[in-house]
Amino acid sequence: MSDLRTLAEQARACAHAPYSQFHVGVAIETLDGQCFSGANMENASYPEGWCAETSALAHMQMASPGARLARVYVLGQGEGFLTPCGGCRQRLAEFGDADTQVVCANLAGQEKSFTLGQLLPAAFDLDPT
Ligand SMILES: [Zn+2]
Repeated sequence: MSDLRTLAEQARACAHAPYSQFHVGVAIETLDGQCFSGANMENASYPEGWCAETSALAHMQMASPGARLARVYVLGQGEGFLTPCGGCRQRLAEFGDADTQVVCANLAGQEKSFTLGQLLPAAFDLDPT
């Protein structure tokens, strides 16, 4: 997991957050062991910004189309644990499943682990079974 933390720290340093000063870095590992990362990207037109998870997923899909998520590492700031927003939980569900591990970490090095199924039970699915 320390490799993912390092990647998330490096990504977080690249966040573009001049409006909120809220820097987020995310690292993801695919089922076949590839790692990617991303940071949040704000915009002067606030709704046009996007989350770190979105950046990381785009990097993954562009480099390795069809890859599936094994683990996600979310590094926020503050003393609590930053969990993915609702929209990103659905984005992660597009490339993961209920067992995908989502580790939420703070700058002090504390981590709290969830499964994607815990964070987004009953995810939207075009073909529900
Ligand atoms: Zn989000």
